Amino acid sequence: MAYDFDLFVIGAGSGGVRAARFAAGFGAKVAVAESRYLGGTCVNVGCVPKKLLVYGAHVADELEQAAGFGWTLEEGHFDWGTLIANKNREIERLNGIYRNLLVNSGVTLLQGHARLTGAHEVEVDGQRYSAEHILIATGGWPQVPDIPGKDLAITSNEAFYLKNLPRRVLVVGGGYIAVEFAGIFQGLGAATTLLYRGDLFLRGFDGSVRTHLKEELEKRGLDLQFNADIQRIDKLEDGSLKATLKDGRELLADCVFYATGRRPMLDNLGLENTGVELDARGYIRVDEQYQTTAPSILAIGDVIGRVQLTPVALAEGMAVARRLFKPEQYRPVDYQNIPTAVFSQPPIGTVGLTEEQALEAGYKVQVFESRFRAMKLTLTDIQEKTLMKLVVDAQSDKVLGCHMVGPDAGEIIQGLGIALKAGATKQQFDETIGVHPTAAEEFVTMRTVTR
Ligand code: FAD
Ligand code: NDP
Repeated sequence: MAYDFDLFVIGAGSGGVRAARFAAGFGAKVAVAESRYLGGTCVNVGCVPKKLLVYGAHVADELEQAAGFGWTLEEGHFDWGTLIANKNREIERLNGIYRNLLVNSGVTLLQGHARLTGAHEVEVDGQRYSAEHILIATGGWPQVPDIPGKDLAITSNEAFYLKNLPRRVLVVGGGYIAVEFAGIFQGLGAATTLLYRGDLFLRGFDGSVRTHLKEELEKRGLDLQFNADIQRIDKLEDGSLKATLKDGRELLADCVFYATGRRPMLDNLGLENTGVELDARGYIRVDEQYQTTAPSILAIGDVIGRVQLTPVALAEGMAVARRLFKPEQYRPVDYQNIPTAVFSQPPIGTVGLTEEQALEAGYKVQVFESRFRAMKLTLTDIQEKTLMKLVVDAQSDKVLGCHMVGPDAGEIIQGLGIALKAGATKQQFDETIGVHPTAAEEFVTMRTVTR
C-alpha cells in the first residue's frame, strides 16, 4: 500500500525534530506536525530560556564579587522586562533556525494539532495523512496537585512570560525545576521560599550533593522549608496570595510557582483509535526499540517517561531514524552514565552512580570527597564552598560516579562523562595531569580516601 509519508512525526520538539531531520537525510519522505512552538519545550519553555534566566541571575554574584577585585560600581538596577524581551527575541531566532533545519532537510512541516485516527493515519486540522510509521514525540506538561486555589499558581510555562518579577515567591517542589527557579527568582531579587514535601530536596541525587547544596542555598539567604506542603491557596483583597500549609502555617506571596513534575502530553492525541498502551505510570509503553504496542507506531522522549532530558530525547530520535531508515548504522541508546546538571546557584554536575546507589548495588565503595573555597572567591568576603566527590569501586578501581556542586559544574562534568563511559579507573584519574589553576583539577588530585 502506498502511504503519503514513510514517517509522520507528531511534535517538533527535541526528539521529534532530530528523528525527522535524520530520517529525511536518510532518504525517507517525512512530515512533522507541531501544534505550539518549533523546538518544543527545551527551546521555548525549558532548557534554553531557563539557562538565559540563570545567567541573568548569576550577574548578581559577579556584581557582589567585583569589589574584591577593585571595582567600584554604582548601585545596579535590574529590569525584568528587558531580560524577558531579550530572551523572547532569542527564542524567536531559534524558532526560525528550527524551521529552516526542517524545511532544508526536505521535511514537510504541518502547523496544527495532530490526532491519531488509526495505526497508519493522522489528522491535522481536518486533513488526513497516511504513513508507514508514526512517531509520537509529544513531550510533557507541568503537573500541579489538585488543591483548592491551584489555578492561582503558575508553572514553568507561565514563569517565562511573567510581566513583572514578583516581590515574594513560593516555589513548591524539590526537583530540577524547583531548585533552578528558586535560584533564578532569588538571584534576581525576589524574596524566595522553597517548600518541599520531604526531608531533603533532589531525591535520587548523591547525598553529599543534596546536603551541600542545601547549606549553600541557605548561606545565600534562600528560605528552605522541608516537610512542608501547601493545602490551599487563596487570593486576598490586596491581590497577594495566601498559602495555607498542611501544618496550618500561612505564608503570603505574590506568586506561587509549582514545579511538582511533568505528565506525558497525550491530550486529544487519539490513542484510543490505535493499539497504543500506557505503562503503570501513564507514559506510553515502548520496547527497547521505541516501538509501542501498535507495531507501526513508535514513541520517544518525555512522553515515554524514561529520562526526561533533551540530549536523551535527541539520542532516542537518532536511534529511531537509524533503525527505520539506516539500520546498518543503528546503535541502541546507552542509558548508563548519563551526565546531567542542575543549574542551581551554585550548580550541580553529576554522572554515574551516587554513593547510595553504589552501596545498594553491592559495590565495595571508596569515596573521595573534597570541599574548598574556589580561588576566585579568595579576594571576596563570599564563603561559598565547592564540593567534589568521586565514588570508586574498591575492587576494580573503576570510577563509578563523579559529583560536583560549584561554579561551572555542568561544564566540568561533561568531560568526566566521557571518562566514565570509557571505564576510567581512579588510577587513570590520578595519572591525568591537572589544568592549573582550576577547580576542575581537584578531580585528578584527590588522593585521600574520605570513607
Ligand atoms: P518536547 O520538547 O516537549 O516536544 C514536544 C512537542 O510536541 C512540543 O513542541 C508540543 O507542542 C508538540 N505536541 C504535543 N502534542 C502535540 C500534538 N498532538 N500535535 C502536534 N504537536 C504536539 N533538559 C535538559 O537536558 N537540560 C535542561 O537544562 C533542561 N531544562 C528544562 C527546564 C524546564 C523548565 C523544563 C520544563 C524542561 C527542561 N528540560 C531540560 C527537559 C527537556 O526540555 C525535555 O526533556 C525535552 O524537551 C523533551 O523533548 P521531547 O522531544 O520529548 O518533547
Ligand atoms: P522532578 O520530577 O524532577 O521533581 C518533581 C518534584 O516535585 C519532586 O521533588 C517531587 O517530590 C515533588 N512533587 C511531586 N508531586 C508532588 C506533590 N503532589 N506535592 C508536592 N510535591 C510533589 O520534576 P520537575 O518538574 O522539577 O522537572 C521535570 C523533569 O524535567 C526533570 O525530572 C528533568 O528530567 C527535566 N529537567 C531537567 C533539567 C536539567 O537538565 N537541568 C532542568 C529542568 C527539568 P518527591 O521527590 O518527594 O517525589
